[in-house]
Amino acid sequence: MHEISDFNSEQLAENITQVRDCIATTAAKVGRDPTEITLVAVSKTKPLELVEMAYNLGVTDFGENRVQEALSKITQFHPPQLRWHLIGHLQSNKAAKVVGAFACIHSVDSLHLAQYLDRKAAEQHMRVEVLLQVNIAEEASKEGMSPDAAPEIARQIAGLANVEIAGLMTVAPLVDDPEEARPVFRALRVLRDNLRATVTGSDWRHLSMGMTHDYPIAIEEGATIVRVGRAIFGQRPPVIR
Ligand SMILES: *Cc1c(COP(=O)(O)O)cnc(C)c1O
Repeated sequence: MHEISDFNSEQLAENITQVRDCIATTAAKVGRDPTEITLVAVSKTKPLELVEMAYNLGVTDFGENRVQEALSKITQFHPPQLRWHLIGHLQSNKAAKVVGAFACIHSVDSLHLAQYLDRKAAEQHMRVEVLLQVNIAEEASKEGMSPDAAPEIARQIAGLANVEIAGLMTVAPLVDDPEEARPVFRALRVLRDNLRATVTGSDWRHLSMGMTHDYPIAIEEGATIVRVGRAIFGQRPPVIR
């Protein structure tokens, strides 16, 4: 992986090819069709030029975790085939801004937030596609609803006219050996299967799970969306908040 200063389109092309190859190889290993797995390239903190470069190399889905940064990029670059994904925490007071800007919001973690999105979507005569973020490992530091609360929250969100639940999302604990994340991915899949059987009116097709460190394991456990940042765009500077 390279620092931004080293980055050129050849390096980026090589990284994208490597990630795509890994997705294909892993899918084949477990008998899955690689075309059912969407690569979301996570471009947070990275300049728009890298997004444009990746787009020109065939990447169609991009993920951002901060609303402000994302909206600035989206305003500047939104070709029709490009889908922007919001993967970071969303505050209700920003709900109005994200409806219409993002193809999918991965971070819906409360009924309250979903109700806001529903209202804003109704005002704009739109439907908003969301994933429910679940804190499978129940880490205090992580966003997401608890797995126990998920069925009831899901049932209520499924009743909102302008919000469409497309599945679940999780961020696995950061562990040295990605194999240790497997039970978390597996649990998200089991939860999704249970919700699919009990909460009707949503199709529950997506499992958004797996990042640079652990996406092959996530694919083995059924991920339909992997969110990969560093393996594509290189390391990020340390976060200062
Ligand atoms: C940053 C981020 C990613 C990508 O992480 P990498 O380790 O760079 O692949 C994926 N999902 C979420 C929610 C993130 O915040």
